[in-house]
Amino acid sequence: MTDDRDALLKRIHDLESQLAQGNTSSATPPSSPASPETPMEVAPLQDGESTLRRLVQRIAMILQAEKIVVMFFDQEQGELIAIPPSHGVEIEKLNLFRVRATQGVSGEVFRSGEPLLFHDAPNDNRTKKDLVSLLHVTNGITVPLIIEKRDEENRVVERNTIGVLHAFNKRHGDDFNDEDVRLLERMAKNVGSIIANLQLYREVVEEREELLQTFESISTGLILVSPQEKISQMNSAARHLFGIETDDVLGKSIHDIIPSEEVCKFLKDGVNGSAQEISEVTVMPQGVERHYTIQGAAVKNEEGKSLGYVTILNDITDQKNLDRMKSSFVAMASHELRTPLTAIKGFTSTLLMDDDFTREEQKEFLSIIEQECDRLRRLIDDLLNTARIESGQSLKPDYSRFALGEMLEKVVMVQRQASMKHHVFGKFNDNLPETVIGDKDKFDQILTNLLNNAIKYSPEGGDVVVHAFRDGDEIEVWVEDQGIGIPAEHLSKVFEKFHRVNNEDNRKIYGTGLGLFLVKHLVEDVHLGRIWVESEVGKGSFFKFRMPIELDIEKAKAHND
Ligand code: ADP
Repeated sequence: MTDDRDALLKRIHDLESQLAQGNTSSATPPSSPASPETPMEVAPLQDGESTLRRLVQRIAMILQAEKIVVMFFDQEQGELIAIPPSHGVEIEKLNLFRVRATQGVSGEVFRSGEPLLFHDAPNDNRTKKDLVSLLHVTNGITVPLIIEKRDEENRVVERNTIGVLHAFNKRHGDDFNDEDVRLLERMAKNVGSIIANLQLYREVVEEREELLQTFESISTGLILVSPQEKISQMNSAARHLFGIETDDVLGKSIHDIIPSEEVCKFLKDGVNGSAQEISEVTVMPQGVERHYTIQGAAVKNEEGKSLGYVTILNDITDQKNLDRMKSSFVAMASHELRTPLTAIKGFTSTLLMDDDFTREEQKEFLSIIEQECDRLRRLIDDLLNTARIESGQSLKPDYSRFALGEMLEKVVMVQRQASMKHHVFGKFNDNLPETVIGDKDKFDQILTNLLNNAIKYSPEGGDVVVHAFRDGDEIEVWVEDQGIGIPAEHLSKVFEKFHRVNNEDNRKIYGTGLGLFLVKHLVEDVHLGRIWVESEVGKGSFFKFRMPIELDIEKAKAHND
């Protein structure tokens, strides 16, 4: 008997040392997330798990127990929950095996930290709540799973009970005794420490995963470079801004991956320790110019050793464009204000200075003055309306039913007179409804504006055609020209305020960049329609819009409130 015991104790001792080795070599969590350059291995986790599985089997063997169950305390649920690995219990049953941490033998052992031995589970009041009948338990031992933290002199400085360990049903109809309790208590220490390590390891892995996901989903470009000028991390925003399609960039040299000498130099200087100011860089992914601010910081560990250099790139393209547009708007608006004023001033002075003009001549001068005043008023109206839309107010629609054909004819006729160079005409389909519901003046404004642009941006002349037809319960109108056209990347932007295509042809054509912004508002908000443009540079453009024939006035009003 003593020989047996000695042999057993020796085996336990061997096991313990095996475990100790296992713990340090594989199950110990790293003190900090692994270097981002070497993706963390999951192997240690699996190693830890299989060590635990082997240990559970050995416990079953040593104690001659039919079943071994580990229960872990789930703080959120306030329950002790059976977790794998187990011995002699099907996983489905294991999943059901749980108890409140205040109940049953499990709860009692968990709370008191003292082991319990029971011999007749079905009739033992203490085990009633433990669902032992689920596992057909007759007798058993329950010991606490304790993890101890020790200081350098191996004194216990902290003890935490993380769960309980059960050994159920002694084989061959035998019963457990106090000796078994002591053995199980001893082995529970190892189980506890492996679980604690695994738990810690999982937390570290999860934390790292969380960090990486955050890093990846941030809309700011982030790059982490190693001291060897290799990419340790590069999030999707950063890959996107350089037009890098693969995410296989880790560990590669910055010079092979980042297609911008400016940025590479910034990173290189950063890695080499020179202080870096925030600077601006321009990159051209897919040939489109974009502007970024770039700033960086050295990354060091606690001992001050360099881990690399981290860089943030913020997209300021829109801001830059807006700044540029605002200054060109000021130039344009001044020009647009000055031109009619110069004419008004010139003709008024002429009329005042000289009494010799005939009645006819005076009339002609005065009508020019009137036209220029109208032009000024239009410009000021555009500015006021833009400000009104900007501040969320509507342009006060005034809805009525009006004759569509007449309206289209009138606008085309007025514009025809505006230019001798262009052939302005309408092509109206017979299927057009006689009347539509809308804001008549604003409809006029939409069409006049589009026709004005068609003429303005066709410096060589050509046809300017208004097409109109019915499509279901909507009308669709196209304004076609054979002018300078619009580059593809500007097609959606021309409807933004202040946006003007800044090309050679356009520079001589003055405007404020507000017309289409207002037109879009008048089509989409006032008439609940839709506007878009199709165009080819050098060939011409089609501005197209559609709106309902029978506009639901209540709906439109509600939309504009
Ligand atoms: P503006 O004409 O005062 O500049 P708009 O808002 O009416 O402002 O138009 C915005 C920009 O769209 C114009 O600057 C021009 O570049 C472009 N655009 C508008 N209409 C046409 C057109 N028919 N053909 C070519 N470009 C156009």
